[in-house]
Amino acid sequence: MQQRYPFPKTELHLHLDGAILPSTLFEMAKERGIELPGNAQSPEELTPYVVYDPTCVSVNTFLEKFELPTTILQDQAALERAAYELVVRVANQGHMYADIRFAPQIHTRNGMTQAEAIEAVRAGIDRGLAATNGSVIVSLIVCCMSFGTADLNHEANLETARLAVEYHDRGIVQAMDLAGAEGFCHLTDFKDLFDIANEGKCPITCHAGDSQEPIEIRTAIEVFGSRRIGHGHHIYDDPDLIQEAIEKGVTLEVCPTSNLQCLTQPSYEEHPIKKLFDMGLHVTVSTDNPVISGVSVEDEYDHLKESLGFTDKELARMNLYAVEAAFCSDEEKEILKKKIEPYL
Ligand SMILES: [Zn+2]
Repeated sequence: MQQRYPFPKTELHLHLDGAILPSTLFEMAKERGIELPGNAQSPEELTPYVVYDPTCVSVNTFLEKFELPTTILQDQAALERAAYELVVRVANQGHMYADIRFAPQIHTRNGMTQAEAIEAVRAGIDRGLAATNGSVIVSLIVCCMSFGTADLNHEANLETARLAVEYHDRGIVQAMDLAGAEGFCHLTDFKDLFDIANEGKCPITCHAGDSQEPIEIRTAIEVFGSRRIGHGHHIYDDPDLIQEAIEKGVTLEVCPTSNLQCLTQPSYEEHPIKKLFDMGLHVTVSTDNPVISGVSVEDEYDHLKESLGFTDKELARMNLYAVEAAFCSDEEKEILKKKIEPYL
């Protein structure tokens, strides 16, 4: 695959269910007898139902794109294939590293357990790694979910947190996250999940400060002890917290196009990622949901160059920041650092 940027790339924030090609969704739905939206007869006809339309300005419309992937990803074969294809795709796109994340509890509708879901995704990642000859290193993050107040799915989240620890001990899962919608309650209500991860020495990241105020990022940093924040761009509204994040070595997983599509930033030009970078905060760039958002990480680099004046060396430096914050082993980080250093 032709690449526009010479340096090896990374993504720290990549959701499996937002990264399945329309052609794969079409095939998997047909195999399972799942009805397609609009009675689509081809992957091309299916595309408008699973890829975000930039002319539409509703977050609900964005979230609706997850319905078909979620309906399909209810057996181990579907999850395995989705994970395998994503690993091969990012390797072909020139990635040297990716953290792939998914929420096991949304794949239990037809009786699959969370543990079976994790094992299926891990198997797909491992098959992808075997097929790409070591060109890319991949870590797996399992997400707890926020669907509303914390009591709504507390049992399912507790199970995810316990499995994160158990599977981390076995080298299958590298970290735990909390994903889903912000704003139904404060993040502090999810503290017990992060207590489980921390006590079990399972690394963590946490979605915070995308649609909500910096106070939620402060919770993730100070209460949960997270040194990575999913999105987190609203930290810009709290200069003291920016300084604290710099001192504590916090890394933000920023996904600019996703922020625009979810209406949490008004435009690329007004996105604070460059200002945060210039202040010395470790920001990184990912796609979040590359297929649903219709964006590759190189597209994100184009936006950052054209709208915010990032240089190629600065883009490469954000890839170094990503390596430093990656959930892979220290030995793997040394390999990755050597790959990016010539471009700094
Ligand atoms: Zn996300």
